[in-house]
Amino acid sequence: MTMTIRDRYAPSPTGLQHIGGLRTALFNYLFAQSQQGTFILRLEDTDRTRFDDAFVQNLYDTFTWLGFRWSEGPDIGGPAGPYIQSQRLGLYQEHAKALLEKGRAYYCFCSSARLDALREEQAKTHAQDTGYDRHCRELSPSQGAARVAAGEAAVIRLKIPFGETTRFTDSLLGAMEWKNEAISPDPVILKSDGFPTYHLANVVDDHLMGISHVLRAQEWLPSTPLHVILYQLFGWEHPVFCHVPMVMGQDGKKLSKRHGATSIDEFRREGYLPQALINYVALLGASYEEGKDLYTLEELCSCFSLDKLSKAPAVFDYKKLSWYNGQYIRMQSDEALASLALPYGIEAGLFGSPGTAPDASRRAAFRAAMGLIKERVSLLKEIPDKIRYLFAEPPLPPLSEFIPKKLDLPKTIDLLAIGRNLVAPLGALSDSQAEAFIKDQAAAAGVKLGDLMMPLRVALTGSRVSPPLFGTIRILGTAQCLSRIDRALALLQLR
Ligand code: GLU
Ligand code: ZN
Repeated sequence: MTMTIRDRYAPSPTGLQHIGGLRTALFNYLFAQSQQGTFILRLEDTDRTRFDDAFVQNLYDTFTWLGFRWSEGPDIGGPAGPYIQSQRLGLYQEHAKALLEKGRAYYCFCSSARLDALREEQAKTHAQDTGYDRHCRELSPSQGAARVAAGEAAVIRLKIPFGETTRFTDSLLGAMEWKNEAISPDPVILKSDGFPTYHLANVVDDHLMGISHVLRAQEWLPSTPLHVILYQLFGWEHPVFCHVPMVMGQDGKKLSKRHGATSIDEFRREGYLPQALINYVALLGASYEEGKDLYTLEELCSCFSLDKLSKAPAVFDYKKLSWYNGQYIRMQSDEALASLALPYGIEAGLFGSPGTAPDASRRAAFRAAMGLIKERVSLLKEIPDKIRYLFAEPPLPPLSEFIPKKLDLPKTIDLLAIGRNLVAPLGALSDSQAEAFIKDQAAAAGVKLGDLMMPLRVALTGSRVSPPLFGTIRILGTAQCLSRIDRALALLQLR
């Protein structure tokens, strides 16, 4: 019998979606896809103080943009719903009560003042045992129930079995064992307001939702022994655990704001493409085929497996990501790239004041310009500045910029005058034809090709370094080219 694979991404909507979350979601998605399994989204929204609806919206927006989806979740439902923990409170309460009845959990009436004092005392005396002192552990269930019935506020704590060792196998890290003494003493599983803590809700849901594999970041590893105990006390089999190494910055510290963008929103705004982000993040802590860098989502789905995960921490390399982005930019058709880049052009004021949309002819020029810069950018947001000269006359650079090496001003004026005559024919030729044509013209005039092109380039683009000249001439059109050359000639002839 083959096992039905079910896994999940279970974010807490207390922040924007970031690289670490994307990696967890993606690995779960890829694993499920590779096994004909089911990938589930569950919102772990029990931390009400840090919850914000905007983060839920950000989650949906992010995954819509990324283009991979769960097949059960809060927005689409499914057989194991609801998929939002705050809508499942009754279930957690029921399960906490079941543990109470089995004597595996107990009511605790300690006030926060008592717990604060306890913590202070432990800190002052550098106590070996820290955390809750199990003060209420020996209250009998009936005593506890009576006080609760009388209206006293209580939390429910888990009775961590004394003197035992908790063992489980992590499919990546191997055999794990923790002495129960090393596990947080009798953690709260249900708060006094009836909300569960992470541990209870997570375990109850993974069980009730039929989760077969828990694939999550290693920061959750310390919680796992506690989860294993919960599974045991409930009498349930626990899922397969697989804790993937954290994503680090280049300095070996956990990836954070200090290293650069970390939220998916920021990457999106800077002009990364979802395909590049997915491709790169899929390689953070995993390797697939030797020597292969570029993977489509479909390819990743078929080649992903748990044994391709690495135990070593993954290092996030912004340069590598931008290389990937450049690759995916080059794979776009001109039209597709133009659609992606257009919002950046509009915002950068390429077509008038910032926010102004292009008319049809400028939109067409923008599309044509994509072919000129596709090979030269790695981020969408770099595009407007690279092609601004096509939409507005660039400022004239200093005279010296026009003059080719070893030549002087009069010679430069001659060269530009020759170039002026070539603009109309060049504009009607393809790149390869244009190249042959201008070579012939240079030879006929007895000048070097480079010397002929340089003043022309500076006159048309405002710079010695620019996107390809022939494409530029075609996009600008003869009239605009002539007017820019005349403006340059006027400047040169003033001297
Ligand atoms: N809610 C936890 C998180 O924010 C879930 C951890 C887990 O996958 O168990 O990542
Ligand atoms: Zn207590």
